[in-house]
Amino acid sequence: MSFKDLQLNRPLLRAIAESGYNEPTLVQEKTIPFVLEGRDVITSAQTGTGKTAAFALPILQLFFDNQDAPKRGKKIKALIISPTRELAIQIEDNFKKYSKYTNLRSTVIFGGASIEPQIEVLKKGVDILIATPGRLLDLHKQDIVNLDFVETLVLDEADLMLDMGFIDDVKKIERLCPDEKQVLLFSATMPFKVEQLANTILKNPERIEV
Ligand code: AMP
Repeated sequence: MSFKDLQLNRPLLRAIAESGYNEPTLVQEKTIPFVLEGRDVITSAQTGTGKTAAFALPILQLFFDNQDAPKRGKKIKALIISPTRELAIQIEDNFKKYSKYTNLRSTVIFGGASIEPQIEVLKKGVDILIATPGRLLDLHKQDIVNLDFVETLVLDEADLMLDMGFIDDVKKIERLCPDEKQVLLFSATMPFKVEQLANTILKNPERIEV
């Protein structure tokens, strides 16, 4: 299977080629088609399997395809929640790399760093926001972040997120997004509490294990 077989468009294929990827990894091969169909997905995959591109590439494809240039208002259409700052930055690096030949904009916000530069970027408008839970809720409370237009919500490393005590924050964030949305949950392990969370916020999810 090639990236072309996954129905990704040329700007993405070009960025993928420049990243030096020859073919999709197993998690990408299994996950990308369902994300493109708009399905909710639960993927259990460890870090290092290529799981970031498994959600980043189809998200870019969905929103690049749907772009209506004159009306482009830079509303947050995809929200990715990460438990740690390091992971959030890595995810943002991935999005920046893959979106190089698209007009989609992304940024990352996290706690423990000055809030002003993050506000400046958000005010210019982004299509894709990567965030740690606390800073996201803080900036939402300040009316800097508007989640009313989110179409795809990603919970990355859900098991770690719950281990770190973010369950209430995650539920709150999910409720701040529209009811009608696509939810993608990624987790290295699937303990009962992750299943419980998945049951409350995902609709008829496709389950993928690698
Ligand atoms: P991740 O599991 O998302 O942390 O990705 C692990 C590493 O694999 C990262 O350095 C990616 O850049 C790289 N990677 C992702 N997809 C591919 C691919 N299809 N071929 C080769 N490397 C990849």
